[in-house]
Amino acid sequence: MEKVKTIKDVDLGGKRVFVRVDFNVPVEDGGVITDNTRINAAIPTIRHLVEQGAKVILASHLGRPKGERKPELTLAPVAAELSKLIGMPVQFVEDSIGDDVATAINGLGEGSILLLENMRYYNEETKNDPEFSKKLAENVDAFVNDAFGTAHRAHASTAGIADYVESKVAGLLIEKELEYLGDKTANPEKPFTVILGGAKVSDKITVIDALLDKCDTMIIGGAMAYTFALALGKKVGDSLSEPDKIETAKSAIEKAGKLGVKLLLPVDNLITNSIDFDNKALGETKVVEGDIPDGWEGVDIGPKTTAIFEDVVRNSKSVLWNGPMGIFEIKESAVGTFAVAKAIAESDVISIIGGGDSVKAVKKSGYSDSVSFMSTGGGASLEFLEGKELPGVAVLDKA
Ligand code: ADP
Ligand code: MG
Repeated sequence: MEKVKTIKDVDLGGKRVFVRVDFNVPVEDGGVITDNTRINAAIPTIRHLVEQGAKVILASHLGRPKGERKPELTLAPVAAELSKLIGMPVQFVEDSIGDDVATAINGLGEGSILLLENMRYYNEETKNDPEFSKKLAENVDAFVNDAFGTAHRAHASTAGIADYVESKVAGLLIEKELEYLGDKTANPEKPFTVILGGAKVSDKITVIDALLDKCDTMIIGGAMAYTFALALGKKVGDSLSEPDKIETAKSAIEKAGKLGVKLLLPVDNLITNSIDFDNKALGETKVVEGDIPDGWEGVDIGPKTTAIFEDVVRNSKSVLWNGPMGIFEIKESAVGTFAVAKAIAESDVISIIGGGDSVKAVKKSGYSDSVSFMSTGGGASLEFLEGKELPGVAVLDKA
């Protein structure tokens, strides 16, 4: 992938800069933001632009208003939260295009910040409508994309607008995502271990295929492992598996063999005879090696497997992890996932965590401060790892 220009490569002082960020945060009734991680993540870019003396125009979506002005999905509370976090005023305008926006932009001083209303109040946003993109670009001189989480979507404010703006560059968050998911994964420090898990093989087929070309060892855990077990002629009882993806698993095993990639599957599993998701509890549990009996399902990797996986992690120079090793939402079956997180945290490997649930799991494990990088884009990070070009990155100026 060609490198793109970033805000560090251009001087945006005095310019009206449209910055697409990801402020899609959870907002409770009454405008209370329950998790401001994403707002914090955008601050380095905003601060950099403010310090350059740019006129910063922030744009984001929030939820899925589907072209309607849903008052509960206004970005107004985000303006207040950002102002608090960054320690300076943040002006808010109740629209994304039109006269009020033009007036607000033209009244902006150098180094000041304006937040536009939810982009998805307009259907034209997700349709990537050219007229709407043109209107977004009307009063701006430059486009900065820093919304990695939506970079895999070609929407008006993530991609379309770039057609009508002279200068378009990446923000610091996207730069970091591209560095870790791109460079460090394409040219990893070896030995390079890829850990895959999660619910379904079908979600990860392309990722498995693309990463087999790059890694020395591939670890498969989570429910995905049961489809691989089926491919090896084992019994998985009632475990979550995809019989129609057995051939996919077989070809991955074959490819790994040809490339000399070590493919490691669980040698033991924690199994249960019932799961109560509402109360986050398992029925009876036991650890088994080999076949899983009918009436029982695998919910986590077992202790022997955990020890093997920990060992591989400790002997790696870099690790890329996508997909939990078990049903980490339930304490009893989070053990394997948390142990892997701990092993990563306690060795000095370069560690990259991608995928929405994987990031959640690592946060829950308490080891998130000790990993090198956690991607902010769930779907976007997966698509990027699959080797797909992200539309929100493709439109940026090449370095
Ligand atoms: P990510 O979002 O990181 O890409 P996935 O969405 O692929 O990860 O997978 C996460 C989900 O996989 C979690 O909700 C977890 O409970 C589930 N999962 C992991 N192992 C199992 C298992 N053995 N049985 C059922 N579900 C599992
Ligand atoms: Mg997920």
